Amino acid sequence: MVSYSQFEAATAEGILEWALPTFGNSLAISTSFQKEGMVVIDMAVRINPKVRVFTIDTGRLPEETHQMMETIRQRYGIRVEIVFPEASEVESMISWHGPNLFYREVPLRKLCCQVRKVRPLDKKLATLSAWVVGLRRDQMESRAETPKVESRKGVVKISPLADWTKQQVEDYIREHNVPVHPLYAKGFPSIGCGPCTRAVFECEDERAGRWWWEKGEEKECGMHVAANGVVKREVDVLMDDLLAARQPHVWAPEGDSAAAA
Ligand code: SF4
Repeated sequence: MVSYSQFEAATAEGILEWALPTFGNSLAISTSFQKEGMVVIDMAVRINPKVRVFTIDTGRLPEETHQMMETIRQRYGIRVEIVFPEASEVESMISWHGPNLFYREVPLRKLCCQVRKVRPLDKKLATLSAWVVGLRRDQMESRAETPKVESRKGVVKISPLADWTKQQVEDYIREHNVPVHPLYAKGFPSIGCGPCTRAVFECEDERAGRWWWEKGEEKECGMHVAANGVVKREVDVLMDDLLAARQPHVWAPEGDSAAAA
Protein backbone atom coordinates (compact mmCIF):
# COMPACT_ATOMS: atom_id res chain seq x y z
CA MET A 1 0.00 0.00 0.00
CA VAL A 2 1.31 3.45 -0.94
CA SER A 3 2.07 5.71 2.01
CA TYR A 4 1.58 9.43 1.67
CA SER A 5 2.70 10.28 5.20
CA GLN A 6 5.51 12.51 3.84
CA PHE A 7 2.82 15.08 2.95
CA GLU A 8 1.89 15.63 6.58
CA ALA A 9 4.66 18.25 6.86
CA ALA A 10 3.78 19.92 3.55
CA THR A 11 1.86 23.17 3.17
CA ALA A 12 -1.50 23.33 1.42
CA GLU A 13 0.08 25.08 -1.56
CA GLY A 14 2.92 22.54 -1.62
CA ILE A 15 0.48 19.64 -1.73
CA LEU A 16 -1.47 21.18 -4.60
CA GLU A 17 1.74 22.01 -6.46
CA TRP A 18 2.54 18.29 -6.32
CA ALA A 19 -0.95 16.94 -6.96
CA LEU A 20 -2.13 19.05 -9.88
CA PRO A 21 0.65 18.17 -12.33
CA THR A 22 0.95 14.62 -10.98
CA PHE A 23 -2.68 13.67 -11.67
CA GLY A 24 -3.46 16.19 -14.42
CA ASN A 25 -6.94 15.94 -15.86
CA SER A 26 -7.80 12.90 -13.77
CA LEU A 27 -7.85 15.08 -10.65
CA ALA A 28 -10.83 17.22 -9.65
CA ILE A 29 -11.78 19.38 -6.69
CA SER A 30 -15.02 18.39 -4.99
CA THR A 31 -16.85 21.27 -3.38
CA SER A 32 -20.16 22.37 -1.93
CA PHE A 33 -18.91 25.99 -2.09
CA GLN A 34 -18.23 26.39 1.60
CA LYS A 35 -15.33 28.60 2.61
CA GLU A 36 -12.77 25.78 2.75
CA GLY A 37 -13.70 24.56 -0.72
CA MET A 38 -13.42 28.07 -2.07
CA VAL A 39 -9.94 28.44 -0.58
CA VAL A 40 -8.89 25.20 -2.25
CA ILE A 41 -10.29 26.36 -5.60
CA ASP A 42 -8.60 29.76 -5.34
CA MET A 43 -5.24 28.17 -4.49
CA ALA A 44 -5.52 25.54 -7.22
CA VAL A 45 -6.49 28.03 -9.92
CA ARG A 46 -3.25 29.92 -9.22
CA ILE A 47 -1.35 26.74 -10.07
CA ASN A 48 -3.56 25.49 -12.91
CA PRO A 49 -6.33 27.80 -14.17
CA LYS A 50 -7.93 24.82 -15.89
CA VAL A 51 -8.28 22.70 -12.76
CA ARG A 52 -11.46 20.61 -12.75
CA VAL A 53 -14.15 21.32 -10.14
CA PHE A 54 -17.25 19.25 -9.48
CA THR A 55 -20.18 19.44 -7.15
CA ILE A 56 -23.08 17.16 -6.33
CA ASP A 57 -26.47 18.68 -6.95
CA THR A 58 -28.59 16.64 -4.58
CA GLY A 59 -31.80 18.20 -5.84
CA ARG A 60 -32.35 19.83 -2.43
CA LEU A 61 -29.71 22.55 -2.56
CA PRO A 62 -30.54 26.10 -1.52
CA GLU A 63 -30.76 28.66 -4.30
CA GLU A 64 -27.68 30.44 -2.93
CA THR A 65 -25.56 27.38 -3.76
CA HIS A 66 -26.61 27.61 -7.39
CA GLN A 67 -25.65 31.27 -7.30
CA MET A 68 -22.16 30.18 -6.18
CA MET A 69 -21.80 27.94 -9.24
CA GLU A 70 -22.41 31.01 -11.36
CA THR A 71 -20.04 33.11 -9.23
CA ILE A 72 -17.24 30.61 -9.78
CA ARG A 73 -17.83 30.58 -13.48
CA GLN A 74 -17.55 34.36 -13.60
CA ARG A 75 -14.67 34.80 -11.17
CA TYR A 76 -12.44 31.91 -12.25
CA GLY A 77 -13.76 30.96 -15.68
CA ILE A 78 -14.39 27.44 -14.38
CA ARG A 79 -17.21 25.34 -15.74
CA VAL A 80 -18.32 23.46 -12.64
CA GLU A 81 -19.12 19.81 -13.40
CA ILE A 82 -22.48 18.95 -11.85
CA VAL A 83 -23.12 15.42 -10.66
CA PHE A 84 -26.73 14.38 -10.15
CA PRO A 85 -28.16 11.42 -8.26
CA GLU A 86 -29.68 8.58 -10.24
CA ALA A 87 -33.22 9.73 -11.05
CA SER A 88 -34.72 6.25 -10.66
CA GLU A 89 -33.23 5.89 -7.17
CA VAL A 90 -34.55 9.28 -6.07
CA GLU A 91 -37.96 8.47 -7.53
CA SER A 92 -38.08 5.16 -5.76
CA MET A 93 -36.89 6.58 -2.44
CA ILE A 94 -39.43 9.38 -2.44
CA SER A 95 -42.20 7.09 -3.60
CA TRP A 96 -41.51 4.69 -0.72
CA HIS A 97 -40.50 6.99 2.07
CA GLY A 98 -41.80 10.45 1.20
CA PRO A 99 -39.98 13.61 0.19
CA ASN A 100 -38.83 14.59 3.70
CA LEU A 101 -37.88 11.14 4.99
CA PHE A 102 -34.75 12.55 6.64
CA TYR A 103 -36.71 14.11 9.51
CA ARG A 104 -38.22 10.79 10.61
CA GLU A 105 -35.24 8.69 11.71
CA VAL A 106 -31.46 8.55 11.32
CA PRO A 107 -31.32 5.52 8.97
CA LEU A 108 -33.77 7.23 6.60
CA ARG A 109 -31.71 10.41 6.71
CA LYS A 110 -28.60 8.43 5.91
CA LEU A 111 -30.46 6.64 3.13
CA CYS A 112 -31.28 10.02 1.59
CA CYS A 113 -27.62 11.08 1.85
CA GLN A 114 -26.63 7.74 0.34
CA VAL A 115 -28.90 8.19 -2.67
CA ARG A 116 -28.41 11.90 -3.20
CA LYS A 117 -24.73 12.29 -2.24
CA VAL A 118 -22.67 9.18 -1.60
CA ARG A 119 -23.67 7.09 -4.62
CA PRO A 120 -23.31 10.00 -7.09
CA LEU A 121 -19.92 10.75 -5.54
CA ASP A 122 -18.80 7.13 -5.92
CA LYS A 123 -19.87 7.21 -9.56
CA LYS A 124 -17.81 10.34 -10.15
CA LEU A 125 -14.79 9.02 -8.27
CA ALA A 126 -14.78 5.94 -10.47
CA THR A 127 -13.74 8.27 -13.32
CA LEU A 128 -10.91 9.98 -11.39
CA SER A 129 -7.45 9.16 -10.01
CA ALA A 130 -7.49 11.88 -7.36
CA TRP A 131 -9.90 14.31 -5.71
CA VAL A 132 -9.31 17.31 -3.52
CA VAL A 133 -11.57 18.28 -0.64
CA GLY A 134 -11.69 21.10 1.92
CA LEU A 135 -11.88 19.07 5.15
CA ARG A 136 -10.35 20.49 8.33
CA ARG A 137 -9.49 18.28 11.30
CA ASP A 138 -10.89 20.69 13.86
CA GLN A 139 -14.34 20.87 12.26
CA MET A 140 -15.48 17.91 14.32
CA GLU A 141 -14.27 14.85 16.15
CA SER A 142 -14.93 12.44 13.28
CA ARG A 143 -12.51 14.46 11.12
CA ALA A 144 -9.73 14.73 13.71
CA GLU A 145 -7.58 12.06 12.06
CA THR A 146 -8.00 13.26 8.46
CA PRO A 147 -4.72 12.64 6.60
CA LYS A 148 -3.54 15.26 4.14
CA VAL A 149 -3.16 12.62 1.45
CA GLU A 150 -4.55 9.08 1.49
CA SER A 151 -5.70 6.40 -0.90
CA ARG A 152 -9.35 5.42 -0.54
CA LYS A 153 -11.22 3.01 -2.77
CA GLY A 154 -8.37 3.23 -5.28
CA VAL A 155 -8.60 7.03 -5.56
CA VAL A 156 -6.15 9.42 -3.92
CA LYS A 157 -7.99 11.76 -1.58
CA ILE A 158 -6.26 15.06 -0.88
CA SER A 159 -7.18 17.33 2.04
CA PRO A 160 -4.68 20.19 1.79
CA LEU A 161 -6.39 22.19 4.56
CA ALA A 162 -6.50 19.29 7.03
CA ASP A 163 -4.37 21.11 9.61
CA TRP A 164 -5.81 24.58 9.00
CA THR A 165 -7.82 26.43 11.59
CA LYS A 166 -11.04 28.29 10.92
CA GLN A 167 -9.08 31.53 11.39
CA GLN A 168 -6.56 30.58 8.70
CA VAL A 169 -9.44 30.02 6.28
CA GLU A 170 -10.90 33.42 7.15
CA ASP A 171 -7.50 35.09 6.74
CA TYR A 172 -6.93 33.51 3.33
CA ILE A 173 -10.39 34.56 2.12
CA ARG A 174 -9.81 38.13 3.21
CA GLU A 175 -6.30 38.38 1.78
CA HIS A 176 -7.30 36.93 -1.59
CA ASN A 177 -10.80 38.35 -1.82
CA VAL A 178 -12.27 34.88 -2.32
CA PRO A 179 -16.03 34.77 -3.07
CA VAL A 180 -18.09 33.62 -0.09
CA HIS A 181 -21.38 31.69 -0.14
CA PRO A 182 -24.22 34.13 0.66
CA LEU A 183 -25.62 31.93 3.45
CA TYR A 184 -22.64 32.69 5.73
CA ALA A 185 -24.00 36.23 6.06
CA LYS A 186 -27.28 34.73 7.28
CA GLY A 187 -25.66 32.83 10.15
CA PHE A 188 -24.88 29.50 8.46
CA PRO A 189 -21.33 28.40 9.36
CA SER A 190 -21.75 25.09 7.50
CA ILE A 191 -23.77 24.69 4.34
CA GLY A 192 -25.52 21.68 2.88
CA CYS A 193 -28.97 20.82 1.58
CA GLY A 194 -31.72 23.36 2.25
CA PRO A 195 -34.03 21.28 4.46
CA CYS A 196 -31.15 19.85 6.53
CA THR A 197 -29.20 23.00 7.38
CA ARG A 198 -30.06 25.94 9.59
CA ALA A 199 -28.32 29.01 10.96
CA VAL A 200 -26.66 28.58 14.38
CA PHE A 201 -26.37 30.64 17.52
CA GLU A 202 -22.98 32.06 18.48
CA CYS A 203 -22.61 29.58 21.33
CA GLU A 204 -23.12 26.56 19.03
CA ASP A 205 -20.38 24.72 17.18
CA GLU A 206 -19.99 25.12 13.44
CA ARG A 207 -21.69 21.83 12.51
CA ALA A 208 -24.64 22.31 14.88
CA GLY A 209 -26.88 23.54 12.07
CA ARG A 210 -26.48 20.33 10.04
CA TRP A 211 -29.28 17.79 10.71
CA TRP A 212 -29.99 19.87 13.81
CA TRP A 213 -32.85 17.63 14.92
CA GLU A 214 -30.51 14.65 15.41
CA LYS A 215 -29.06 14.21 18.88
CA GLY A 216 -25.78 12.45 19.51
CA GLU A 217 -25.32 11.37 15.90
CA GLU A 218 -22.21 12.13 13.83
CA LYS A 219 -22.98 15.15 11.67
CA GLU A 220 -21.75 13.37 8.56
CA CYS A 221 -23.46 12.40 5.32
CA GLY A 222 -21.23 9.42 4.53
CA MET A 223 -19.09 11.05 1.84
CA HIS A 224 -16.12 11.40 4.19
CA VAL A 225 -17.01 9.26 7.20
CA ALA A 226 -19.08 6.17 6.53
CA ALA A 227 -21.85 5.05 8.84
CA ASN A 228 -21.05 1.99 10.92
CA GLY A 229 -22.66 -0.51 13.27
CA VAL A 230 -26.42 -0.77 13.53
CA VAL A 231 -27.10 2.38 11.51
CA LYS A 232 -24.98 1.10 8.63
CA ARG A 233 -26.80 -2.21 8.60
CA GLU A 234 -30.17 -0.47 8.64
CA VAL A 235 -29.16 1.84 5.79
CA ASP A 236 -27.83 -1.12 3.80
CA VAL A 237 -31.15 -2.92 4.18
CA LEU A 238 -33.11 0.19 3.17
CA MET A 239 -30.85 0.68 0.16
CA ASP A 240 -31.14 -2.95 -0.91
CA ASP A 241 -34.93 -2.75 -0.63
CA LEU A 242 -34.98 0.43 -2.63
CA LEU A 243 -32.80 -0.96 -5.41
CA ALA A 244 -34.77 -4.18 -5.53
CA ALA A 245 -38.12 -2.45 -5.61
CA ARG A 246 -37.67 0.32 -8.16
CA GLN A 247 -41.41 -0.01 -8.49
CA PRO A 248 -43.11 3.30 -7.99
CA HIS A 249 -45.13 3.17 -4.82
CA VAL A 250 -47.44 6.03 -4.02
CA TRP A 251 -46.22 7.55 -0.79
CA ALA A 252 -48.83 9.07 1.48
CA PRO A 253 -48.42 10.73 4.87
CA GLU A 254 -49.48 8.50 7.77
CA GLY A 255 -53.24 8.57 8.20
CA ASP A 256 -53.89 9.66 4.63
CA SER A 257 -55.67 6.51 3.59
CA ALA A 258 -57.36 8.14 0.63
CA ALA A 259 -54.05 9.02 -0.97
CA ALA A 260 -52.64 5.57 -0.25
CA ALA A 261 -55.62 3.77 -1.71
FE1 SF4 B 1 -31.01 14.28 1.87
FE2 SF4 B 1 -30.66 16.10 3.80
FE3 SF4 B 1 -28.69 14.36 3.14
FE4 SF4 B 1 -29.41 16.37 1.51
S1 SF4 B 1 -28.46 16.53 3.55
S2 SF4 B 1 -28.99 14.27 0.92
S3 SF4 B 1 -31.64 16.40 1.79
S4 SF4 B 1 -30.68 13.89 4.10
